Amino acid sequence: MVALAAVFGTSLYAVPTTSAGSSDASAHVVADDRPAVIGKRVVGRSVRDRPIRAWHLGERGKPKVLLISTMHGDEPHTRQILEALRDGRPIHGIDLWVLPTYNPDGRVRHTRKNARGVDLNRNFPNNWVDLDGAYESGPRPASEPETRAVMRFLRDIRPRWILSFHQPLYGVDTVTKNKRFSRKVARALNLPRKSFTCGGACHGTMTGWYNNRFAGAALTVEYGPHPSRRRMQVTAPRQVLSIWGAFRHR
Ligand SMILES: [Zn+2]
Repeated sequence: MVALAAVFGTSLYAVPTTSAGSSDASAHVVADDRPAVIGKRVVGRSVRDRPIRAWHLGERGKPKVLLISTMHGDEPHTRQILEALRDGRPIHGIDLWVLPTYNPDGRVRHTRKNARGVDLNRNFPNNWVDLDGAYESGPRPASEPETRAVMRFLRDIRPRWILSFHQPLYGVDTVTKNKRFSRKVARALNLPRKSFTCGGACHGTMTGWYNNRFAGAALTVEYGPHPSRRRMQVTAPRQVLSIWGAFRHR
């Protein structure tokens, strides 16, 4: 019955998954009426106990990619890129995970930081220092539940490629592990290449932690303060897939 939803759900997302003959209510939890989704997971919970969700799209066995957005709750636009991929047609040529809302408490409060006032992109146990103010790094490395949730998730799935979407600096980071990847992403997304040095040295960032400890490459991508809805929902999703030669089923 779950498969039927996947087959017939291409234009109508609200296809009910029938549970005739089954008293197992959990069948409804497993099923997803989005045709592009092949799996989903709650990777952890926020300080205020909101779930942090990831969706698995594309094809297993292809290059593994993770897209992350809304690490900062006051950067609301790029989440639309990930949601458009999740809610659209089935994706081919890539093994793709999307995590649209890393910081659900910050999203609700429209704040950069999490509910305890910590900048999650300074909280990772890589070159961590005790920062206060705008870049409050927390009482210790990985002190925040959101950080630990994403660390567990990354250790588990180990993407070859990660794009971490932010705003509003408008560019793709060049101070990164794989400069060829950086050039390719900037070209595909039609964004300039910039050096994001965190005003000196980057401390406790997610991309720094991943790049130092894993074989894969994590890259920061910043859009401007007010990207158009069309760019976020139509243009950028297509451009992101093109980085790996992936495409959506027609
Ligand atoms: Zn940000």
